[in-house]
Amino acid sequence: MRFKVPKCPQCGADAIGTVERVWGIAEFDPPDEDGTVEYSGYTRILWDSQTTESTANDATLLTCGTHEWGSDLLEPDTIEEAKGVSHA
Ligand SMILES: [Zn+2]
Repeated sequence: MRFKVPKCPQCGADAIGTVERVWGIAEFDPPDEDGTVEYSGYTRILWDSQTTESTANDATLLTCGTHEWGSDLLEPDTIEEAKGVSHA
């Protein structure tokens, strides 16, 4: 895939990837008798929820690892296509 702005506008480094949003569940231990709960320290990551973040004007959000910037995707047409996700 190719991006219109492949290098970080702030530091000039190459993009190392897209910024993704993934949902997770920070799990509780079983509740005490009075219903008090505490975190178990384990977070279950819901990988099926993973989506690529985009800017308000629908550019793909890229990162150099430190900064984030939006860039149009030049090819293929969509991130889903680049990830090999079926539209069927
Ligand atoms: Zn940077």
